[in-house]
Amino acid sequence: MSGIKPARRWQPAFYPFKKEKFSRRVLAKTELYIKGPLFGCLMCGNCLLQETAFICPMECPKGMRNGPCGGITPEKNCYIDETRKCIWYTIYKRALKTGREEILLEVLPPLDWDKVGTETWGDVARQIRKAGTRKFIGGIFSKDKLKKTEVWDSVFKTIRQPEWWHGDSDYHPATASEPASDLERRLHEGEFVVATEVTPPLSAKTEKLISDIESVKPFVAAINFTDSSSARPKMSSIACCTVALAQKAEPILQITTRDTTRTGLQSTVIGANAMGIRNILCITGDSARIGSSPTSNMNLVDIDSVQMLWIMRKMRDDSVYLDGRKMKYPPKLFLGAATSPFASDPVLQAIKDHKKVNAGAQFFQTNLIYEPERLDQWLEQLDKRNILNKVYILIGIAPLKSHKIAMYLHTKVPGVSLPEKILKRMEKAGESAPEEGIQIALEMIDSIKHKKGVNGIHIMTLSWESMVKRIVTESGLCPPPDSYRDTLRGG
Ligand code: SF4
Repeated sequence: MSGIKPARRWQPAFYPFKKEKFSRRVLAKTELYIKGPLFGCLMCGNCLLQETAFICPMECPKGMRNGPCGGITPEKNCYIDETRKCIWYTIYKRALKTGREEILLEVLPPLDWDKVGTETWGDVARQIRKAGTRKFIGGIFSKDKLKKTEVWDSVFKTIRQPEWWHGDSDYHPATASEPASDLERRLHEGEFVVATEVTPPLSAKTEKLISDIESVKPFVAAINFTDSSSARPKMSSIACCTVALAQKAEPILQITTRDTTRTGLQSTVIGANAMGIRNILCITGDSARIGSSPTSNMNLVDIDSVQMLWIMRKMRDDSVYLDGRKMKYPPKLFLGAATSPFASDPVLQAIKDHKKVNAGAQFFQTNLIYEPERLDQWLEQLDKRNILNKVYILIGIAPLKSHKIAMYLHTKVPGVSLPEKILKRMEKAGESAPEEGIQIALEMIDSIKHKKGVNGIHIMTLSWESMVKRIVTESGLCPPPDSYRDTLRGG
C-alpha cells in the first residue's frame, strides 16, 4: 500500500481474515493496484465508489460511510489531520458538481467484516451476468436516463445494499401512534422545549449528580448525559440516565459511535429501554485524538451515527435485530441526532441532515451556536428539502463563564467557532465575565426562539449547571416554579 497511499496512517489497509483461493487473491491484488492509485481504495471489500463520486470514503480517519462528521475545520480540512481536506467534503463537492448529490441520501451499510480485504470485481461480474451482459452494456450506453439508472442499480445496488441492510433514500416516519417519551409528547403538542446537560461525575459517587439533576429538573423538559465527552472517561451515560429516572427526571441517553459496536448498540438499546430510557441521541463522538493520553484507537469503524439511527429505527418499527432475528417486545424510542449547522456549508450540511432524518432522526440537537444570524441559511436549506416538518430542532447554547473557556471552545472544540465580537466582549468583561456570558446567552436565545423550524433550546452547561434556572426564567422560556419565585422575593 505504501507506494499508492501517503505514509501517514488514516485508515489501515484492509486484509482478509481467512485464506482466499489463489484466483481471488490474484483478482484482489489486481483490484488494489488499479483502484488504489485511481480512487484511494483501501480494499474494504464492501465497495461504495459508485455512490461516493468515485472517492473512497474509507480514507476518512473515522471510517464514516454516510457523510461527514461535524468536525470539519473552517478551511474544510479534517480536524484529525488538519493538513488534509475532509474526504467527505471532497466527495460532496464532486457529487454537487456532477449533479449526483441526491445519490448521497441513500443510507449505506456498515462493513461486513467477513468481506474486508477481498475483491469485489468478482461480485460485479456475477451480478452483470445475472442481469444479462448484453442488457447491461446496452443500458449503460443508453441515452434514456431511467433505463441507465435501472440497469446500473440492478448490478451495483444489489452489491452495496445486502439483504441484511436494504438501505434506501426514503423517509421512514415512526410507526407508533403514541409518543415514546414525555419529551416527544411535549414537542408533538407544540411546546417550545428546553433541554440541558448535566455533566457526568468523574467518580462513582452520585451526590453531586443528584443535586445537579434536582437543580435543573424544574426548568427543563429533558436532561442529556454525555457519553465520555471529549473522548475522556467519566460515569457512563446509561448510569446517569438511570439515576435521573430515579429522581423522576426525563433523561436523554447519548451514545457515541466511537465506543460502540453494532452488537453493543443493540444490547444497550434493549437494556436502556427496559430501564425506562426512551430518548436516545446518536452521535459520532470526538476523536480519541483529542482525548485522554495514551491515545485510544482512532479508527471508528464499526458503525456511524446514520447507521445507528437506521438500526434502532428498524428495531423499534420492524421489531427486528440487524441479523434478522425478530423480537416480541420492541423498544419504544424517540431518536435524536446531533448536527453541526456551520461545519461545512449549509447546502452540504443539509444533505447530511436530510439523510439522518430519513434514517430515523426525530429530533436534532445542534452544536453550539454563537452566530444566530448564520442559522437562517441552514434552516432555509432544510426547508428546501422539506424536512423542517419532519424533525424537531433544538439549538445548542452554552453560556460562557470566562474568556479562557470562550477561547478553548473557539480553538479546540471541533465544529465550534466564536465570532470576534463575542471573544472581545468576554475579554473586556474581566471579573464580570460570567455575567457577560449569561447576557450573551440570553441575547442568543432571544434571536433564535422565533425562527421558523426551531422547536427548542439545548443548554450545554459545560459543568455550570447552576445557571440553567436563571437562563430559562430570564429568557421567558418557562414560568418559574413557585420555589424560584420565593427565592426572588427573598423567601
Ligand atoms: S472531518 Fe470527520 S468526516 Fe471529514 S475526514 Fe475528518 S473525521 Fe472524516
